[in-house]
Amino acid sequence: MKLRYWLLITGSFCVLNTSTTAVAQNSGKLNIVQKPIVFNQKRQQLSLDYLHKRHGIQKTRPTIVPRMIVLHFTGSGTLNSNFNYFNKEEIEQARTANKNQSALNVSAHYLVDRDGTVYQLLPDTIFARHIIGLNYMAIGVENVGGPDAPLTEAQVRANAALVRHLCARHKIEYLIGHSEYSIFRNTVLWKETNSNYYTGKADPGTDFMRKVRALVPNLKLRSKP
Ligand SMILES: [Zn+2]
Repeated sequence: MKLRYWLLITGSFCVLNTSTTAVAQNSGKLNIVQKPIVFNQKRQQLSLDYLHKRHGIQKTRPTIVPRMIVLHFTGSGTLNSNFNYFNKEEIEQARTANKNQSALNVSAHYLVDRDGTVYQLLPDTIFARHIIGLNYMAIGVENVGGPDAPLTEAQVRANAALVRHLCARHKIEYLIGHSEYSIFRNTVLWKETNSNYYTGKADPGTDFMRKVRALVPNLKLRSKP
């Protein structure tokens, strides 16, 4: 298996290729498998462009300070087909509404397989495009599944464990499902230069959000601004 590891050298991101297998990191009950997507110079520049043009934020490095966790589902596909999709730097031509706003591909920080295995695709503090208006502060968690493959109980438990893991490392205030994000429009947290750029979402579903929240009540995470 070809894996790529990030190295931070003199302020720029480098990508190394190795032939080792995925390295699992123990974190309490949570096992996070490192499976990085490519974060090369091209994705770095596209991320900086997105931060500037879409969020109105000018930076020299595409980093975020996480304050929100957003849960998603992929809609369809397998772990590998979704990994391969996110691994491309540029968004596919068919997604015209998104492509017109930025050429940066969508991605997420984590991808959770149907058996509950958690794969980390990007470092928590690196920018990823997964939620209009809020990417600059949000960690994205994608779950393999969708309308024809309802998310599993193993994914519920894995998402809750991942939320606890992230809250122990970052000052997370909000936990939302992608479908809940419209309530953040017209607030100071919403940073999108085009007020018409918005798409309604149904993922990952109210049932999934209710189950995950029921496992982390002590964290007192907010679902609204
Ligand atoms: Zn989503």
